[in-house]
Amino acid sequence: MGKATETTLEIDFGALEHNYHFLRGKLKPDTKFLAVMKAFAYGSDAERIALKMQALGVDYFAVAYSKEGIALRKAGIQKPILVLHPLPLHFEELISHCLEPSIYSRKVLLQFLKTAKKLAQTNYPVHLKFNTGLNRLGFAEKDIDFITEELKQQDEIKVISNFSHLAASEDANEKDFTLRQIKRFDRIAETIALQLGYRPFRHLLNTSGILNYAEAQYDMVRSGIGLYGYGNHPEIDKRLKPVAILKTVISQIHEIAPGDTVGYNRAFITKDYRMTATLPLGHADGIGRQYGQGNTFVTVNGEMAFIVGNVCMDMIMIDVTGIACKEGDEVIVFGHHPSAETFAATANTISYELLTGISQRVNRTFIGY
Ligand SMILES: *Cc1c(COP(=O)(O)O)cnc(C)c1O
Repeated sequence: MGKATETTLEIDFGALEHNYHFLRGKLKPDTKFLAVMKAFAYGSDAERIALKMQALGVDYFAVAYSKEGIALRKAGIQKPILVLHPLPLHFEELISHCLEPSIYSRKVLLQFLKTAKKLAQTNYPVHLKFNTGLNRLGFAEKDIDFITEELKQQDEIKVISNFSHLAASEDANEKDFTLRQIKRFDRIAETIALQLGYRPFRHLLNTSGILNYAEAQYDMVRSGIGLYGYGNHPEIDKRLKPVAILKTVISQIHEIAPGDTVGYNRAFITKDYRMTATLPLGHADGIGRQYGQGNTFVTVNGEMAFIVGNVCMDMIMIDVTGIACKEGDEVIVFGHHPSAETFAATANTISYELLTGISQRVNRTFIGY
């Protein structure tokens, strides 16, 4: 937990472990737990986080693309890895790294079958993804006959799970819609099992699903944001701990006279004497322009300091008038105060976007493992 001397994303493994146990505690003991590792483990460090989660005993991992799964295999992950959005271009690589594809359309099913045949596979594990209302990826209910007909004529692949994804699990106003999604998924999984003559395991819930619809946990849940410390609800956020803390330092302090301006386009104009501090991070590090113009605060020696003027590529300026600070002092961009959720909300976005946007230029450090 040393003081930052450059822009650093501090990754707290103690917080990760706490969040995992909190979420696990909401589930039946024999429900499997899939840890979602896509987008560098929500902007942190997929390989280190996955190794920690593997040591904690999770059952499954998921990534969005094959490339992310290959990186986890190279890092020593032996548990099954579900690829949520595999592209046919990468099917051979996916198989050679023992990754498990989500099969979500007739076309993708046929293409995967072709690749599995070419590589002489038998019973290669695949997961069928059904669209129950999100309308993003997934087979329609009316595709079931097509799927089971295709599967009966071959032994290259085997369905090991059926799954779907909720559209609004965090939104209490959408409870009726979510319950309809659950019912639809129930019916689809039942029909598939009957037609196949065996029972693939089932999974539906993401983090907010675990928190709000635990009755629909089936055989496994898939959690991302909760592991990283955010639960899409202020009460839940209090119980979780942020895994990623973004810190930086003050590079330079300026005294600004009345009528002077700060930054590109002279976007911040002062009426009185102000003190500003320049920080070594900008939109190239994931702090977009929408956080400028006094919308968003960071913490300097425990006090709130607002980002002023336009965010630059490599720098931001903050107003530190009245705050005791000097060049070289540490600045907390987000973490505990403000939380990533609070920081993101100042620009009408969500913790997911802020966290996954922290660029690879930012140094990562690790504590608590
Ligand atoms: C990203 C993703 C998740 C994880 O969602 P969280 O809200 O971060 O828990 C689960 N399932 C699917 C299909 C996803 O794409």
